[in-house]
Amino acid sequence: MDAPFAARMGKMQKSFVRELLKVAQDPSFITFAGGLPNPVTFPIEQISIAAEKVMTQHGTKALQYGVSMGYEPLRKWIANRYQEKYGMNVTAENILITNGSQQALDLIAKAMLDPGDKVIVEAPSYMGGIHALRLYEPVFDAVPLNDDGIDTAVLAQKISDAKLVYTLPNFQNPTGISYTPAIKKEVAEIFKSTRTHFIEDDPYNELRFSGEDTPPLFSYAPELGFLMGSFSKVVSPGMRMGWICGPLHLMDKILIAKQASDLHSNQLSQYIIHQFMLDNDYNAHLKGIQNLYKNQRDLMVAAIKKHFPSSISHTIPEGGMFLWTRLPEGMDALKLFDKAVEQKVVFVPGQPFFTDGSGQNALRISFSMTPAEQIDEGVQRLARAIKTY
Ligand code: PMP
Repeated sequence: MDAPFAARMGKMQKSFVRELLKVAQDPSFITFAGGLPNPVTFPIEQISIAAEKVMTQHGTKALQYGVSMGYEPLRKWIANRYQEKYGMNVTAENILITNGSQQALDLIAKAMLDPGDKVIVEAPSYMGGIHALRLYEPVFDAVPLNDDGIDTAVLAQKISDAKLVYTLPNFQNPTGISYTPAIKKEVAEIFKSTRTHFIEDDPYNELRFSGEDTPPLFSYAPELGFLMGSFSKVVSPGMRMGWICGPLHLMDKILIAKQASDLHSNQLSQYIIHQFMLDNDYNAHLKGIQNLYKNQRDLMVAAIKKHFPSSISHTIPEGGMFLWTRLPEGMDALKLFDKAVEQKVVFVPGQPFFTDGSGQNALRISFSMTPAEQIDEGVQRLARAIKTY
């Protein structure tokens, strides 16, 4: 007998990329596939010192249930950082701590979406984000992403009946593309003139290693949006700490969704991250990660220029963990994947990042995890795979 799952589960599939990548477990493979932060960046010693301090100083509170919005000192710390970096007018009241920013997406979708609501996503967009939203049965519409950000002309055409727009303005997963400040402002004007709500997914914000930092889209339309952040790429993904920054009039319902989902986020992780921030020079810690990723991006871009045919285009991200390459039209990255496996190198084929099945010729290449000394060799292997294909 079939199990009596909800009809909406019929639209959900296991991540096919995860299945594909099982082949790459063998250590002789070079992987450009993982979307993981490099574990050499984990502040293991500082976190263990912070954990011990929390246990001795706040043990009974850190092990107890907490409030649903999250640990107030941590929320204040996040709000202060937005104030200091961008002059944003937010306080702890605007911040709700979530179990990773993946949960932030789930809560916003849970609170905002009815089946059939139109959600606009970038093409391509973060596949885990599409997955989280899809559970609430929206109808997706996609707006192309250009080198300077979302295509504002197409966005303006498509927005009138949209309930939500899901944006990734900084070092996007999967392309590494960032919106320019002009595009952010233009997009905010479109949201304001149509009163359309948006999600700004920004887990890579602190990973800028070149170019100028620019304020979030949220800062231009703070009444209409949710700005999501995360400690996953900058401290530890295993601690599952993220947040939603939103306007007070929208946070009440998000709080109800949070209470219904899991009462509150991991109390112990919240205390430990806060203690880590109190005791350490966070900017210096970030600088170390930025330098590491910049070096790896530089090596990757140099290797691509050296080994790939010039018919293959690629982005040059100013931060984050990914770049995006396009094979000539008509080539299929899934077929290339098989050839790449023969050469013992893997990447993520582009198609799952699109809601309309396009993107066959695109590849997401991650530079965060690959040791510097393997990057040139990995790109050479990929170039050989392209040649045999
Ligand atoms: N958004 C984007 C764009 C991501 O790349 C990721 C992680 N891959 C997430 C959200 C989720 O991150 P977390 O739940 O660990 O904060």
